[in-house]
Amino acid sequence: MEKKPFERPYIKKLSAGMPSKFGMPVRIDAISSIDEYPVEDLIEKFGSPLYVISEKNIRETMARAKQAFATRYPKVQFAWSYKTNYLNAVCRVFHQEGSWAEVVSRFEYDKALHNGVNGSQIIFNGPDKTDDDLECAIHNDSFIHIDHFDEMYAIIDIAGKLNKKPKVAIRVNMDTGVFPMWDRFGFNYENGEAWDAINRIMINEKLELAGLHTHIGTYMLSANAYKVAMAKLADLAFRLEKKFGVNLKYIDIGGGFASKNTLKGAYLPGKDTVPTFDEYAEAITSALLNSEINPRKLPVLILETGRALIDDAGYLVGTVIANKRLSDGRRATIVDIGVNLMFTSFWYEHEIHPAKSSSEHLEESTIYGPLCMNIDVLREAIAFPILKKGDHFVIKRIGAYNMSQWMQFITLRPNVVLIDINGNDHIIRKAEKLEDIIASEKIPDHLA
Ligand SMILES: *Cc1c(COP(=O)(O)O)cnc(C)c1O
Repeated sequence: MEKKPFERPYIKKLSAGMPSKFGMPVRIDAISSIDEYPVEDLIEKFGSPLYVISEKNIRETMARAKQAFATRYPKVQFAWSYKTNYLNAVCRVFHQEGSWAEVVSRFEYDKALHNGVNGSQIIFNGPDKTDDDLECAIHNDSFIHIDHFDEMYAIIDIAGKLNKKPKVAIRVNMDTGVFPMWDRFGFNYENGEAWDAINRIMINEKLELAGLHTHIGTYMLSANAYKVAMAKLADLAFRLEKKFGVNLKYIDIGGGFASKNTLKGAYLPGKDTVPTFDEYAEAITSALLNSEINPRKLPVLILETGRALIDDAGYLVGTVIANKRLSDGRRATIVDIGVNLMFTSFWYEHEIHPAKSSSEHLEESTIYGPLCMNIDVLREAIAFPILKKGDHFVIKRIGAYNMSQWMQFITLRPNVVLIDINGNDHIIRKAEKLEDIIASEKIPDHLA
């Protein structure tokens, strides 16, 4: 018989099985497989910690998002937000699903080209585009979303030199009733700056104003904020139609739909509270369809959804390093996944599940990562079953931002594995080795 792990005796109120005034006690079910691939096998084959991405989940989520919008509006185009997860294999799944690329740097722009995206299907956002970046985007016929007047004048200059008419849009920020307001990007609607920018582009005639863009924030819990935003963009489009007789090719409402993760301090779990794709789609398309825009010349509706399309598809699989008691008697579990691999633990209370069924007795625990720094906390307080050293666990909904905001800090980044729709595994990013990291370092002669 296997020896049971020793646990120092600890007196605590037993709540398993008994309803309290808050309802039934929490249960944490085991996640023993991902898309029917046993977690134990994944760790044995690819090591721990490990990122796992479900291709099936991406495609199913994408299908639901497309359906929500396509059933409500005739012309819809998704553009994959590279910064949300820029692993090539992931981007290519989205491109296969018909998504264009939405990029915010030259690095991401070049990555999109490398993934075979046609220049004319790349949307170039962000405040930092050099003259060289702009020249490249103009040359490739990409859509450039102008962030500020300095950028507008730079594009006008370059367009003159290249003798080309760049396709541009302006990014618009506005009050959507959500605090804090994101007004650092683009031109403001309420104070007339956006309308001013539109007029300057139209009168100049060096640029083709193809669309209007906004990105009102991220993890937006209010579908109504999108309705307000779309109504304001549609108003600008209508004024443009009236004054210049020009119909925009598209209106780009950006990204920001909430994923089903739970924000820190939220009272209810995200999966019970965040709006569905249908609710977002209803808000956005009704504002567009009910606007004054000529119904025979409706613009394409572009969506730059990132987080809500990829968060659910990503898992982190890891191993318990040790258990200990803190000075106040609280239980602490140290695991091999830290904030270096899970940047989103600063915002979310991620669900963590044991990889095999365990006792139903949960105890409030703190889950620490392996890094030698105080802020390396995955969960401040979670009712968690007792896992012993070497046990495995699965963290859900980590597909968004972790594989781009990860840090090579203290240790190396592990393998990323994609499980395809037939259940086959593929390494889509190899675990880093010492050589990968020091390859770009240089030693001055006097230290050689
Ligand atoms: C980050 C970003 C997105 C994606 O946002 P999500 O919250 O991941 O949906 C879309 N558009 C722009 C301009 C962005 O900066």
